[in-house]
Amino acid sequence: MQPSSRRIRPRRRTAALFSVSVLTLAVSTSAGSGQLATGSKSAAGPISLARSSPLGPCMISGSMGVQMSEGIPTPAGYARSTGTVRALNLMVDFSDAPGQGKALDRFGEFFPQTTEWFRTSSYGRLDYRPQAPTGDWLRMPKSFKEYGIERGAPFDPGYRELVQDIVTTADPKVNFQDYDLLNVLITPNAGPSALDTVLSVTFAGNTEAPVADGVPVANASFVYSRQDDGSGSYAETGYRVLPHENGHVFGLPDLYTQDGGGAVGHWDIMSEDWGADNDLLGWHKWKLGWLDDSQVGCVAEPGTTEHVLAPLAEPGTDGKLVFVPVDSKTGYAVEVRTQAGNDESVCKSGVLIYKVNADVDTGQGPISVVDSTKDSGGCTRSPNVHAELSDAPFSPGQYFKDLDTGIRITVAGTDPKGNHRVYVTRH
Ligand SMILES: [Zn+2]
Repeated sequence: MQPSSRRIRPRRRTAALFSVSVLTLAVSTSAGSGQLATGSKSAAGPISLARSSPLGPCMISGSMGVQMSEGIPTPAGYARSTGTVRALNLMVDFSDAPGQGKALDRFGEFFPQTTEWFRTSSYGRLDYRPQAPTGDWLRMPKSFKEYGIERGAPFDPGYRELVQDIVTTADPKVNFQDYDLLNVLITPNAGPSALDTVLSVTFAGNTEAPVADGVPVANASFVYSRQDDGSGSYAETGYRVLPHENGHVFGLPDLYTQDGGGAVGHWDIMSEDWGADNDLLGWHKWKLGWLDDSQVGCVAEPGTTEHVLAPLAEPGTDGKLVFVPVDSKTGYAVEVRTQAGNDESVCKSGVLIYKVNADVDTGQGPISVVDSTKDSGGCTRSPNVHAELSDAPFSPGQYFKDLDTGIRITVAGTDPKGNHRVYVTRH
């Protein structure tokens, strides 16, 4: 099983993974009990739903060739995204890039913020437990240069060698069976500055990875350099690359494209992970099993339906997401976004509408946000936040109509709690 071809994107990282169809086959034959072999567990999310249920028509899926799809349910092989998830963190350095300062300080750049971020975004459903059992830098036997790691580098041979050496070096102190995923926190002085090239990458669902304590290191995120924009906010926001990379471990695709974050802007951490904090789209929260099925409305029948949507960032069991399927692969999602929870940079609250296409692969633009105010320039001045889409949400009195399908989404009103009443009409 070979890794699929990888697209190198300017300034950004790739999500590297394996063909899901092949993956499923491999998983079913590796009945190990290990934690890193996450294929032995079911993927999180609404997988219990039958397609004949009321939500069935909204469980869009992509073609077999799509490696990492927005489709629901997420295929097996990725790490579990609900319950207690144990993350092994290994801090790694090299002879030509010796760790500067304490390895646990590198760990401290990402924790406890990453744990908190997942707790907030998941409404407490993801109990993320980071551990750093080695404590110190793990010195690799080869220099950084010798591994040949660069932007878009495939798993073979450089990353395979690196993972093998990490396993060999850490094994005396680590039982890999005790963990659900691996974070490799590389000393920041190895490789280029993240301002020039983001090397950070995740290999997800990779059952062909080197084996440690009997389990393949199938879901591993590598973080390089520091995503420091020089604005002085690194200590607050620099960790956000890790929830992005771990999003891949849980099966989420990249939403930025070769052209950057213009498709989704700052409305999802899989689109933009620099600068001010942001949350995930409601679609992703449903995909990850963080919204109950009862919080999702599926509008598959002709007619007009009324929906009350609570702000996505607020905890609680109210309705959070409405989906209007166009066909078996695409549809429109509707949710309410406010400045709350992880969404600290929201400058215009309201109803966010976006198109989801499960047949479009990671990094190719599987989701696009509908801008209620095209070419406005946006309302945010926050650094590293895509400005144009920052005022994309629709306000009471506004509507969106898809001319191809006749689907119309109207925002009727709001109450003091920020709940929005929405009408959906389809033919
Ligand atoms: Zn990514």
